[in-house]
Amino acid sequence: MESFFNILPSSANIYIYAPTILPSSLEYYDCPQCGMLQLPRLKENPVKMIAQGKGKYPDFMLCGHHPYTLLSQKAVNILESEANAQMDLLPVELYDPKGNSRAEEHDGYYIMRPKTVLEMDYQRMGLEVVSDCPECGVMKFDKQPKDFGKLILDYPEDKPLPDLFRLKHNKYMIFCTKKLLEIIYRNSLKNINASMGRDAYIYGVEDLNLKEMFKKPRKKKE
Ligand SMILES: [Zn+2]
Repeated sequence: MESFFNILPSSANIYIYAPTILPSSLEYYDCPQCGMLQLPRLKENPVKMIAQGKGKYPDFMLCGHHPYTLLSQKAVNILESEANAQMDLLPVELYDPKGNSRAEEHDGYYIMRPKTVLEMDYQRMGLEVVSDCPECGVMKFDKQPKDFGKLILDYPEDKPLPDLFRLKHNKYMIFCTKKLLEIIYRNSLKNINASMGRDAYIYGVEDLNLKEMFKKPRKKKE
């Protein structure tokens, strides 16, 4: 299978970030089917969030409250036109901590979730699915994520991966192909960290250097 990658907005403080969602946009509920308690749910559209920090607005923005990934309008346009990336996009309104709109400062942001959902190869990873709630989507395994080891996808070896996807049991982690990483790099989309997808559950894995990956090889001097 081709390599796949885990991408995450950087928390580097050289950019504006979104530390939290306003209480009016978020509610917690208990799943009526499996009894899972205090699941978060976004209830406003657009979602209202605080934007904090100085500097530029990045193309990938971190939410500090829940691990949502926010995309700038520019990033959405580029991914939609250049990649096979099916995305659910929920518009976001940004406010400063005093409650003033920051809409004039940027071209728009969206909470992005990949539409394409793949599953891990539970058998090859030695995992047992303990529960899988059709109502809230929460899955439980016989191991903790820190003990999952290398991530193996349940996907045909010879079929190209979709450029953007998430895993069924995790709404927040985002995976992509090398092609999508290259699109991010070539378009200078700002503030993304990427690491090997197979290592997504391994602690302390180093981020990849996209410049090293995609820079054009220098011509040899004659
Ligand atoms: Zn449930």
